[in-house]
Amino acid sequence: MKKHNFSAGPCILPQEVFQKSAEAILDFHGIGLSLLEISHRSKDFLPVMEEARAIVKRLMKLGDDYEVLYLGGGASMQFCMVPFNLMKKDGGKAAYLDTGTWANNAIKEAKKFGTVDVVGSSKDDNYKFIPKDYKVGSEYDYLHCTSNNTIYGTEMHQFPEVDCPMVCDMSSDIFSNDRDYTKFDLMYAGAQKNMGPAGVTVVVVKKEILGKSGRDIPSMLDYQKHIDKDSMYNTPPVFPIYTTLLTLQHLENNGGIEAAEERNKQKAKLLYDEIDNNENFVGMAAKEDRSLMNVCFDLTDQSKKEAFDKLWKDAGINGLNGHRSIGGYRASIYNALPLESVQVLVDVMKSLD
Ligand code: PMP
Repeated sequence: MKKHNFSAGPCILPQEVFQKSAEAILDFHGIGLSLLEISHRSKDFLPVMEEARAIVKRLMKLGDDYEVLYLGGGASMQFCMVPFNLMKKDGGKAAYLDTGTWANNAIKEAKKFGTVDVVGSSKDDNYKFIPKDYKVGSEYDYLHCTSNNTIYGTEMHQFPEVDCPMVCDMSSDIFSNDRDYTKFDLMYAGAQKNMGPAGVTVVVVKKEILGKSGRDIPSMLDYQKHIDKDSMYNTPPVFPIYTTLLTLQHLENNGGIEAAEERNKQKAKLLYDEIDNNENFVGMAAKEDRSLMNVCFDLTDQSKKEAFDKLWKDAGINGLNGHRSIGGYRASIYNALPLESVQVLVDVMKSLD
């Protein structure tokens, strides 16, 4: 029986996507060959790459001033690609928001390239909230922020007005809410939450911000080189790209990002209401910054842990343990997780004495 999968990533994808991607491995579009055994430059794969790039722009409502790339190396690779491409070689300086472990990793990498000013941080408060009072002027090469903090369950519901390019790590909430994507100059996200299997990272970049750093960038780390080759500078990770395309087609056929946001809000409300109304549980993140994707909570009485853990495991729930660095529980309720699974969890929470 299919479990209720609250895993933080890799995570649940639409069942239809699992089915179709499995079929493509056995026989891709009825051509008598597996997706895994054909050339990425064949007439059968090229349309996949073309459409996988186009659908991202359609869903985000972006124009021709943006390019979409499918790159290897995980979201973590972007922690160095961003400063390599955007931070000036001479006197380079970037602003970063420190909102969690991943943001912090991005900061550590950027420091290898130039000056990093952390303009806002909630580190001293165990990343429970999103810092809001800061200004970012034109003296910065860019601002880097993390829209959703997967480990701490906080999410940026507003983005600042800044006088420099805005870069955002959207790994754990891309395509989950209907934000104005034109506000961003560079967005990136590892596929393994709302898009597909691990192994590919989507990068969406506004072309005009490139080519200004004055650095000699190694080819594989140079966004422009990948753009010039239509995201085929080297052999792309064909299976994660195809699966991502299937997920995004599924999203488009089910009302796009607007409809996904409505479903996500409904799921999050159901769960946060239970956390707030059930005296056995307490939420971890500041209420106004609560994530629609990762719901972090804990027991008010740790002596009930054994009983609660048995209840949710017996109910067929998977992946509810909090990240090892903060403990407690984390229910990841990404786009593909059905409302029914959240209801099962809420019923389990209600049944705890
Ligand atoms: N950023 C965020 C917000 C993440 O949640 C993660 C991974 N969970 C990463 C970056 C790192 O992604 P990857 O493992 O693909 O490098």
